[in-house]
Amino acid sequence: MDNPQTTVTFLGTSTVVPTARHDTASFMINGKYLVDTGWYAAIKMLEYGFNPMQLEYLFITHFHHDHYIGLPHLLFYLRMRRRERPDRPPLKIIGPAEDIEKVVELSRRFLQTDRFPDVECIPEIIPLNPGESYQEQAFQIDTCSTIHAVQGLCYKFTDSRSGGVFAFTGDTAYHPPIAEHIKGVPFLIHEASHGPENPKLDANTGHSGAPQAAAIAKAAGVDWLALIHCAEQSAQAALSAAQQIFPNTIFPDDGQTVALNADGVVSISA
Ligand SMILES: [Zn+2]
Ligand SMILES: [Zn+2]
Repeated sequence: MDNPQTTVTFLGTSTVVPTARHDTASFMINGKYLVDTGWYAAIKMLEYGFNPMQLEYLFITHFHHDHYIGLPHLLFYLRMRRRERPDRPPLKIIGPAEDIEKVVELSRRFLQTDRFPDVECIPEIIPLNPGESYQEQAFQIDTCSTIHAVQGLCYKFTDSRSGGVFAFTGDTAYHPPIAEHIKGVPFLIHEASHGPENPKLDANTGHSGAPQAAAIAKAAGVDWLALIHCAEQSAQAALSAAQQIFPNTIFPDDGQTVALNADGVVSISA
């Protein structure tokens, strides 16, 4: 029986500097698309039963270190294990146009590919500016801007196979146009770097508090909100603060999976 679902599995939900147990914010879609690399996403994929060699796309929300620092590790992994899948097409990396080429090039230089040609791994780069879309047979992506110190993309992901749709903001200050962009999407992953308290309106931190994330979820009319990118010790307080405004909020643990189809969220694993 064919009953396809879109799965989102959190590899990490922590803030900038993670712990040995909890990586910084990063997650898998359908076991073959990775969103941000955390500090060590390639290794966390193995921990949760994913094969990095099956990875087709990497979506980067923006090029701050905590969202791309695992990129050289990932490229190195794909190269070192290439004999397992010699026919593997190059990894496709989608990300903000302003920084993507520079950071991918720096990652390759970090691996010293000129000195060690054997570790050369050339990904395909797909730069996007906020407002631009990308489509292929399996999925469509629509983006909008964020408020952050570097160019960022808020993604809406539509799975052509299951009809599942969801959105993820990346790092952003409170930005009501996001609610317009993702209107009616059943599932939203929103950052909550400031934990239970909103930052002062003039603070210009480029990050949100949990109540602001909940306000966006409410304005967008989503069914479920997942908070991420919050220090472990504030996660519970952030969750409670968001639930006051938007009761259907979770703070996912590493390894937790949310499944969706065309009807919306089907299940949230324990
Ligand atoms: Zn950032
Ligand atoms: Zn960040």
